[in-house]
Amino acid sequence: MSIEKVVIIGSGPAGLTAAIYAARANLNPLCFEGYSAGGLIPGGQLMFTTEVENYPGFPEGVMGPAMMKAFRDQAERFGTRFIRDDVSAVDFARQPFTVKSHDESASAHAVIIATGARANWLNLENEQRLAKSGGGVSACAVCDGALPMYRNQEVVVVGGGDSAIEEGSYLTKFAKKVFLVHRRDELRASKAMQARFFRLVEEGKMAPVWDSVVVDVLGDQTITGVRLKNLKTGAERDQACKGLFLAIGHTPNTDLFRDILALDDKGYIKLPRPGSTYTSVAGVFAAGDVADHTYRQAVTAAGTGCMAALDAERWLAARGIE
Ligand code: NAP
Repeated sequence: MSIEKVVIIGSGPAGLTAAIYAARANLNPLCFEGYSAGGLIPGGQLMFTTEVENYPGFPEGVMGPAMMKAFRDQAERFGTRFIRDDVSAVDFARQPFTVKSHDESASAHAVIIATGARANWLNLENEQRLAKSGGGVSACAVCDGALPMYRNQEVVVVGGGDSAIEEGSYLTKFAKKVFLVHRRDELRASKAMQARFFRLVEEGKMAPVWDSVVVDVLGDQTITGVRLKNLKTGAERDQACKGLFLAIGHTPNTDLFRDILALDDKGYIKLPRPGSTYTSVAGVFAAGDVADHTYRQAVTAAGTGCMAALDAERWLAARGIE
């Protein structure tokens, strides 16, 4: 079996940007673009987004799937080869590394991991249906919150961490009122974020709904409300809303790399060299949300994908592989 110079695992903005750069550097990359691992499909989280309005270069906005097709076409144009399959095992213990999917196996001198992260959902039937149909349910307020359908409407955010406050306060720019539904009566968010939240509550832009969980999502084509259950009293009531935004954390897609790469306590890949994409194994690089729980934007993922390709190119060149 011939040895690939670089294998890329993942095909979101990080993986495909790495592919574009690696292909243009004559590294002839092979990209395992995935199939259904982690509930994702080739193209990653943006395949589940409607309009992307914050990616530079698209003043009129662009649909997430269309943007990912353009990324992929660009990577293919420069010679990236794709395998549409989920990676099932990796061996980084010795050179060359091995990357296996169900039907294929590749040996590689360098590997770029860009398997992303998945938003956590409540996994309610109507939540999933309306999220998939663009009916007003989303796990990314920064991606979707500025859509006209939420303007001057009441919306609900679920969660009590920094993301919930950040996304809720972002939504106050458009929505009439943002209800923050949290399962306890104390926020997990940092003190600074809590201060921001209570300021917005005083201004009447946000309102807490403590000790409560969403037990159903109401509406046929688009959301009309949520059914809330108070965990202390057991009482249920319906809250009208035109948008539901989940901010209950993300799960990095790193199950494959457990006990192989150093991961942080939340399972994200650790990057021991600040300002680079080097992982704990020399020759293995990580880009995008799989190593980033802070920014999680398409443009930051693309940026680190570029960094990973440049890091891999230089690492390979230092070993005489060009
Ligand atoms: P997080 O800190 O894990 O908070 C998740 C929140 O969702 C918690 O309040 C949790 O409730 C709630 N939750 C989890 N599962 C739930 C469920 N099934 N039903 C209802 N509620 C549920 O996640 P995050 O807010 O995304 O933050 C992740 C990391 O990124 C943190 O380290 C955070 O500091 C960082 N971050 C920083 C910034 C910033 O500084 N600008 C912005 C965003 C994120 P409990 O509290 O009861 O567990």
